[in-house]
Amino acid sequence: MNGLYDRESRSVSSLAHLRFFPQAVTGGKGAMLRGDDGRELLDFAASWGAASLGHGHPAIVEAVNRALTDQAGASYLSTANEPCVRLAEKLLSIVPERAAGRVWFGHSGSDANETVARAVIAATGRQRIISFKGAYHGGTVGSVAISGHPAQSGIDKAAGLSLVAYPDSYAAGSPEAAAQAALADLEERFATSVPPEEVAAFFIEPIQSDGGLLVPPPRYFKEIEALCRRHGILLVCDEVKVGLARTGRLHAFEHIGIEPDIVVFGKGLGGGLPVSAAVGPEAIMNHASAFSFQTLHGNPVCAAAGLAVLETIERENLVANAAKVGDIMLGALSDLARKHPLIGNVRGQGLAIGVELVSDRTTRAPAGDETALAVYRAFQLGLVLYYVGVNSNVLEFTPPLTLSENEAMRGIAILDQALGDVEAGRISPQLLERFAGW
Ligand SMILES: *Cc1c(COP(=O)(O)O)cnc(C)c1O
Repeated sequence: MNGLYDRESRSVSSLAHLRFFPQAVTGGKGAMLRGDDGRELLDFAASWGAASLGHGHPAIVEAVNRALTDQAGASYLSTANEPCVRLAEKLLSIVPERAAGRVWFGHSGSDANETVARAVIAATGRQRIISFKGAYHGGTVGSVAISGHPAQSGIDKAAGLSLVAYPDSYAAGSPEAAAQAALADLEERFATSVPPEEVAAFFIEPIQSDGGLLVPPPRYFKEIEALCRRHGILLVCDEVKVGLARTGRLHAFEHIGIEPDIVVFGKGLGGGLPVSAAVGPEAIMNHASAFSFQTLHGNPVCAAAGLAVLETIERENLVANAAKVGDIMLGALSDLARKHPLIGNVRGQGLAIGVELVSDRTTRAPAGDETALAVYRAFQLGLVLYYVGVNSNVLEFTPPLTLSENEAMRGIAILDQALGDVEAGRISPQLLERFAGW
């Protein structure tokens, strides 16, 4: 099926494209994808973490087939269906008690965050929301409105939105300095332009993924939690990319030691099918009916896939696998840093890993072009990974949670070669002409 990429460019709109190289695939199994040219590609992106169990996992195949064979409708708007109820019950059983009220189901992280943003304002009567500079909470009008990622600059923000600094330990020189600067920014806002008693919710990412895979300083979010409690601000934890086993804990918020009021799940929850969930107190999640829905929300086929993902995470010990293989990868990437001057910083938790590329280790100047070339070269060599970051210079690793140690080391060997080729100037920048990235 050679030529799929070019056929796509003649038939499919580019409005949703976020392209780094001419990837076109016709199938996949586990952590491997098959290119339309027959090449085997090792997938360290897993479609931005959505293919959490890898490709074609038997548990998802079985659950989806079963749900379709005796299909309980296509929606939960006007009828209860069993996969939805079972998934809701399961989600309520895994979140902290303060969040374990009711579950809303959607298709995407975007619609879930948008719904939560609308619901917290409607239910509390408070008009303000706080989120972070660099945060990505989605691509719909209402989720862009509460996001701070520069790729979305120029799109309107919510009237009551305040964006505060996320702590960046590498840029600040140390975790302590980063935490101090970020907290000072927030406290200054509270004292001046953002009266805390007007704030409905604080949207956080326990690792700021699209902003650059930023791992927060150890106690930073404990302080945020305390401030939120003092002022009656709801703490909304966006676990869309890094939740559900990815960080080597079931929830990424376990690493930062907080208990959110509302938890948002997406991407990996469906294991490749579109399903998201917002889980929070009854007073918020039952604020009104007919408040936020799309016809296929609560689709039993997608809900069945979500349930299969959660059950497989438990049955196959994928929390432990993510912790173990993630540690091995972090170690191997730190070794690569000794050999490649492009690598400024390696960070992450479990199988959520970022490698920040710089053109100068002293100034930490971002190496954006080299980052784009490195992922392109890795693709040529058989490895799929993308990049993130407000300066477009952080390689992002979100492989399937089922990744083996052997696959991890194979991928890192490819990256080693790709970085060497870029550093030696062997890769032509012209390759990037059609690939804007972000
Ligand atoms: C991807 C992402 C979203 C949006 O999810 P979609 O499924 O693309 O709508 C929201 N929050 C975070 C943290 C994400 O990484």
